[in-house]
This record gives sequence, structure tokens and C-alpha cells, in this order.
Amino acid sequence: MTAIRSTCPYCGVGCGVLVEANAKGGFKVKGDPNHPANAGRLCSKGSALAETLDHPDRLLYPEIAGQRVDWSTATQTIAKRFQQIIQTHGADAVAFYVSGQLLTEDYYVANKLMKGFIGSANIDTNSRLCMSSAVAAHKRAFGEDLVSCSYEDLDEADLIVLVGSNTAWCHPVLYQRIMQAKQNNPTLKIITIDPRCTQTAESADLHLGLASGTDALLFNGLLVYLAANGYQDSTFIEYSTEGFEAALHTANLSSPTIQAVALQCQLTETEVRQFFQLFAHTEKVVTVFSQGINQSSSGVDKGNSIINCHLLTGRLGKSGRGAFSFTGQPNAMGGREVGGLANQLAAHMEIDNPIHRERVQRFWQSPTIATKAGLKAVDLFQAIEQGKVKAVWIMATNPVVSLPDTEQVKRALGQCELVIVSDCVRHTDTTAFADILLPALTWGERNGTVTNTERRISRQHPFLPAPAEAKPDWQIICEVAQALGFAQYFDYPSTAAIFREHAALSAFENQGERCFNLSAWQQLTQQDYDELLPTQWPVTLNAPHGTKRLFTDQTFFTSTGKAQFIAITPRPPRTKPCVTYPSVLNTGRVRDHWHTLTRTGITERLSAHSTEPYVDIHPEDAARYFLANGDLAEVYNELGKLILRIKVNPKQSRGSLFVPMHWNQQFSSAANLSTVIPAETDPISGQPESKHAVVAIRPYPAQWQGVLITREPIAIPSEYWSRYKIKGGWCYTLASSTLADFKTPWFTALKTEQGYMEYCDNTQHHYRLALWQEQRLALCLFISPTTQALPSRQWLTSLLTQETFTTPQRNQVLSGKPFTAQPDQGRIICSCFNVGENTIRQAIQQQGLTSVQAIGTCLKAGTNCGSCVSELNQLLQTERQQ
Ligand code: SF4
Repeated sequence: MTAIRSTCPYCGVGCGVLVEANAKGGFKVKGDPNHPANAGRLCSKGSALAETLDHPDRLLYPEIAGQRVDWSTATQTIAKRFQQIIQTHGADAVAFYVSGQLLTEDYYVANKLMKGFIGSANIDTNSRLCMSSAVAAHKRAFGEDLVSCSYEDLDEADLIVLVGSNTAWCHPVLYQRIMQAKQNNPTLKIITIDPRCTQTAESADLHLGLASGTDALLFNGLLVYLAANGYQDSTFIEYSTEGFEAALHTANLSSPTIQAVALQCQLTETEVRQFFQLFAHTEKVVTVFSQGINQSSSGVDKGNSIINCHLLTGRLGKSGRGAFSFTGQPNAMGGREVGGLANQLAAHMEIDNPIHRERVQRFWQSPTIATKAGLKAVDLFQAIEQGKVKAVWIMATNPVVSLPDTEQVKRALGQCELVIVSDCVRHTDTTAFADILLPALTWGERNGTVTNTERRISRQHPFLPAPAEAKPDWQIICEVAQALGFAQYFDYPSTAAIFREHAALSAFENQGERCFNLSAWQQLTQQDYDELLPTQWPVTLNAPHGTKRLFTDQTFFTSTGKAQFIAITPRPPRTKPCVTYPSVLNTGRVRDHWHTLTRTGITERLSAHSTEPYVDIHPEDAARYFLANGDLAEVYNELGKLILRIKVNPKQSRGSLFVPMHWNQQFSSAANLSTVIPAETDPISGQPESKHAVVAIRPYPAQWQGVLITREPIAIPSEYWSRYKIKGGWCYTLASSTLADFKTPWFTALKTEQGYMEYCDNTQHHYRLALWQEQRLALCLFISPTTQALPSRQWLTSLLTQETFTTPQRNQVLSGKPFTAQPDQGRIICSCFNVGENTIRQAIQQQGLTSVQAIGTCLKAGTNCGSCVSELNQLLQTERQQ
């Protein structure tokens, strides 16, 4: 097999990959050196792609009410139920909830069906949760949702400001690119602005740990400072912008002086002055903003407060300059192009513009067209609960985990008349609510395009056959459209045909007034499409090889052709810490996991870095709430409760907590973060405020703790459990606040007749069980009153890889003591070479290592994907301080 070029399915960086067959009949995946997004680099997630191809829980057949049916029955049933509901209640009684995981071609037909043929705009996407505030900010400033920058601007900048972006973990290949740029240009300065001192902040020249929600105050202050000190580009402001005076006047009201800014943002005046001066004195500035800005009830304003500063200085549309929104998902941008958001039409046209509506309807030759914006994600699920929306089709996403206020989402889906879920995985928190399940293809099987953060369209190529009866999403949607009576409009022979239509719509009656334009690709042949090189739109006859940078001619896509300053009155989050809920909860990603773990959670390599859901807390807060490192804690508010492992972290700011977003009921009993996130949204974008909730924390009163290794996943009834993948099986961590488990012990039911060894002390509450399957250990469970009494996790998890046990070893398993003395290597830091924290610390101390390169030479850690480099730097720093 010659290498197949494709694109990583995880984040918005959009790295190119090369897939090759390996000698064992499997595949290996490496970075594509010719892809401009990554030039051969991959992070830990991309490097492990080959390990996630064989999912143990694929959805393989359509199902209705849990029973397997054929495709025709499934699509006819959906069409019939949709028609009944639409006839009785109108088109707005049905909805699609789609995903930035879909390919552009899937997205295009879903949007066309809902907006042009069903006649409602009730199609929204999980991209609403990650970047819809950036979309709205772009539209207000530039007249269209436009990201002007390229990754090359990161190479060329002299100052990179990362706002609300833990780039090292969330966009790792771009972080490595920034670090490389710093090596090439030692004068490059990096500033991070984030309430959290993240792994990215550790390597910055300056970190502003501002108070949660105060970003717009800070950037308003910067605008005032730049104007007051003569840093404005007056010609650019006069000829290419509007609204400057009003924006400056308003900024002056909230942020008149450095002192006022420092006070409100809880920064020192020196920190604020340093940032303002660096920004002012550096011509080539790129300001990156990401989820820390977008996931806010004032995310649009925050985005515009950043863009305002670039407009004032004229720093956009030129090399090394611009406000650069990093998107989360692999195809969030593609969804924006086809109108995947409920308030967009298609090809960057607007629903509330009658000319656009008429144009799109004429192009589609559709019987109808949505006349008003549809329901945005949070509103949609509230409308479902209220019974206004009676049927929802969820595609490639897991809203029970990702939408705020989990219980509300569950109530909504639980009482919805018709819930359809298309997914590649059979069991997720959302598929549990489905009346109809449709098996979809996944990465490696799908064929189409995605667009990354820098507007670069790349191909995803299939290299695996469709399993069982699974189908591509575009085909499923088209079959339902055909069953609804729209056969001639959804009769695509291939994704190439859909892509040509998408390109043609972008060019349709577009004399340059819409920037999004793929006119040069309207006539692509199948071969052209298959050989499409990664290209940044617009792609027109004048720019057939794409467009690196926008706004180079200083004209914009507003009605006047001028960019708009937006007057920003900063708004704090609605909820404030109080006596009952004194802590602010911040949220984010861990390094090696993606979204709701359905893919990364099945590989031991990616699971080794963060094995359990946790909460970061400052040492003083931990002491105040009687919490110690490694304890379990309850994090709660009026919406619900989480049970999480405590990580005492001196870098966490006082009064705040951090919890990662990935865990859900497939992987832990009580760690779905959205359970405690209220459904507060930005009034313009509808994006939820996922970075700010007020909560309280208290010790979890564990009466016993346990650890279980097993070859197959099992249902655990204990109050707390979480699991992670290990070689040969799964490792579960268990706990309970009740000793009733010892009175009616559920764990004894795990015993089989095949052979087991058991130890039980009901008085001291110890229980141990080992099950044997011939020579191999099938399951092993330890329960004790404290975690300290449990055996070494490293030893225990290694037992599933041991094929045979001697009789003394079998007898010794229940003692919980390793057969031979093993140094504890600690938490895995380098997942490529399985190198633990203790091993690295020891090597630093004993061998006097002083650099990441030296650690790499000694232990190989950090020498493959580079995702652990920021943590290696942290370890070097902390060891140096000791
Ligand atoms: Fe994939 Fe990592 Fe590249 Fe993101 S940075 S696209 S997760 S390899």
C-alpha cells in the first residue's frame, strides 16, 4: 500500500498525516512532511491514531428501539415520523444537532436539507460550544466570518499574545511551531493571558493571571493606552475603519488607566504596564484567542476588544500581524463555510438577508427556505424540553456530555418524541436516549474535506472499508432526504459532487462581495478532488492556489468596505462566588485526550497521562476545605455534583478550581463536568459560559477505596468509579461513602466458578479477589479503607500482560506485593516512550540534566511527538528550585 495522505481528525490545527500499512497487517500513521499545517509534526494524539482504528464498541447496524433493522426501514421511519411532526406542528418542530467532527460534505447536505427543503433553520452544531463567539466577533468587525492570519504569521511575529489558550495542550503542534519560532528568533516574546498558570504560561516571557472574565477590561485598557501614547495608525483608521471614537470613548469609561485596569483584573500595575508597552512597541504582533475568550457570556465582546487593538494599530493583513482565533474542532471552520450554525445560511450568506435567501433558494431550486434564524444549541435543548421541538437528529456528537446543565439535556432527550443519533460508537451518554440509531463511518473510512484554523481545506482519504452496515453521514442524510421526497436534489454520486456544488454556491452571484469563494474549484474532476492539495480559501481564478492572508488591500466585507471598531462595555460573569459557592470553576482539556474519550479513551498510550478525573486546587484552599493531595472531593452547586481526585497545585490561583472536560458516564460515575455548568450564554453568539461556574468543594467521605483490573469492562455499582485503558484490559478506581457494600457485597458476585482466590475481612473492611482463566489473571480487585493500603498501580496493571504465573506468584497476588522489587516510575509524562515522572526527576537529580534535550538523550522522553516538552521544562524548573 502506498502511503495515503489524510488529515488528523482531532483539533483545529488540521495536521496532515501519512498512513501506511505495517508488517503486522495494521497501519502506522506519521506526520506528513509536505502538509503546510504541520510539516511532519504530530502531537501525542495524532501519533497514536493507528491505535484507535479498531474500536471495540462500534455501532454497526441501524436500530429502532434497540432492535436491529435494515437501512430502508430506518430511513423510511425517520422520514415518516418527520413528515407527521412537520404536518402537525410545523417545520420548526424538528431539528438537527450536528458536529465539527463532520466533514464539510456531510455538513453541506445536512444544512441544505434542513434550511432549503424542510424549511427550518433548526440546525445547530457543537461548534456553537467552541467558537461561535469568534464567528460573531469576526462578523461584527469584518462583515464576514474571516480569520485573516496564517500559521506563517506565528513564524514571522515578534510578539505572540496567547489569550485564553493553553496552546501547549490544546493545539500542541502550533505550540511547537511557536517554540521553534522562538528558537529561530530569540527576540520573539510570548505573553499568556489566562487566569490559570497553564503549561503554556510556564514557557511564556510574561503571564498575566487575570481574574476570571476580565479580558475585555484589559483589552479596553490596552486600546486606551495605545491611543493615549500615539500608537494608532491614523491613516488606516481614517480610510479603512469606522467607529473608532465611540470604541475609544467607551473603553475609557471602563479602563481609563493602568491602575484601574490592574485593580479590576487583579493584576499588578507592573504586569499591565509591561504588557501594554510590549504590545505598543512591537510592530509584528499576533494575538491568538481561543476557548478562554469564546466560552464566556461576553465572549463576542471579548473577541472584539482584542480585534479593536489590532484595528487601532493597523496590525492585520500584513506578515506577522493579526488577531487569530484558534478553533477547537477539526472541521469547525468547514461547518461555518456551509452554514452549520443556526443563524447562518450557506457559503457565508445570511438568513436575515432576503437577497441571500432568494439567491440560495434559487441555487438549490428548493421548495422553501428558512426565513429566520433557528435555535442555537442551548435554546434548542430547552425547546426540546418544553415540547416545542419534537424530533431531533443528533449527528457525530455527544450533547449529554458537552452541553451545559447535563440534567436539563437528559430531561429534554428523555421526553422528546423522536431522538435519532448517528454515531460510530454504540454506547455513549447520548446514544442511551436514542429511539433510532444510525451507524456512521469514522476517521480512516470517511472521504471528504475539512478546513483548519487558518482556512486551509485538506482532504481526508479513506483507507479502511466501511464496517458492517455503517455508512458515511452524507449518504445517510441524502437517503433520508430522498425518503422525504427530495430525491432529485440529493442524488449525489460522490462527495466530489457535493464539494463541487458547495464550491459553485460560494461563487454563485459573487462578484467579490463575499470573501468565502471557491470559484476555481467548481469544475473539479474526481481526480482533481482526490489529489486536492491543502489550500487556504478563497480559491478563485485570480488566486487558484489559495490565499495566505486576508485584508492585504485594507478593504473589508462590511457594507462600507471598512472594518468596524466595536464599543465594548465589559460585562462580568453573571454568577459570583458567594458564601454557599465560594469557588470559581474553570474548565479545559488534558494533554492526551480528545472530547468525550470515545476515541482517545480506548488506547492505553493516551490514557496513561491522565488516568482519573481530577480537580486542581491551590494548597491554601485545600487546607481550608480539609482536602489533601490524592483524596477524593465533591465539587457541587445547585445543578449537581462531581466526585474527583484532588490535585493540590500551587500554580492554581486561590479561590479557583480547574476540572478537565473529558470524563462522562462511560468512563466515570460522577465526573461529567457539564453537570455543574449552568446554561449561561453569550446574548449574541449563544455560546455557553463553560469557563466560569461557581461551586463549592468538600471532602468525599470515602469509607473504602478500591482498585480493580479486568480484561473486559464491567458494570460497577459503587458510588464512585472511574476507569482507564491499560495494556490487556482496564483499570478501575473505586470508592464508596457507605459500608453497606460490605453487608451486601456486590463484589463477591464477580466470582466465577472457573477459579478464584479471595480474602475478606468484614471487620476491617478489606476485600481482595483474584480470578483466574487458566494460566492468566482475568480480574483482580483490592478494597481497603484507605488508598495507602492499596497495591502499587504500576505492578497491578502489569499483571494483565503476564501470560503465566507460577504457583508462588498466584499465591502472592492477593498479598498486593510485587513479585520483585520495582521502582515506581510515577505518573506517565512521555506517553510515546512510557517514561514516568519519578524516572525523569531521578535522572535530572542523579545525572545533573539541565535541558529537555539532555532528558531526551538520556531517557528518550520528549524526542518523538514533543507534546510532553512543556512538562519536562516544568520538571527541570521544579528540580532546580529544590
Ligand atoms: Fe491532530 Fe495534534 Fe495536529 Fe491537533 S495538533 S491536528 S490533535 S496531530
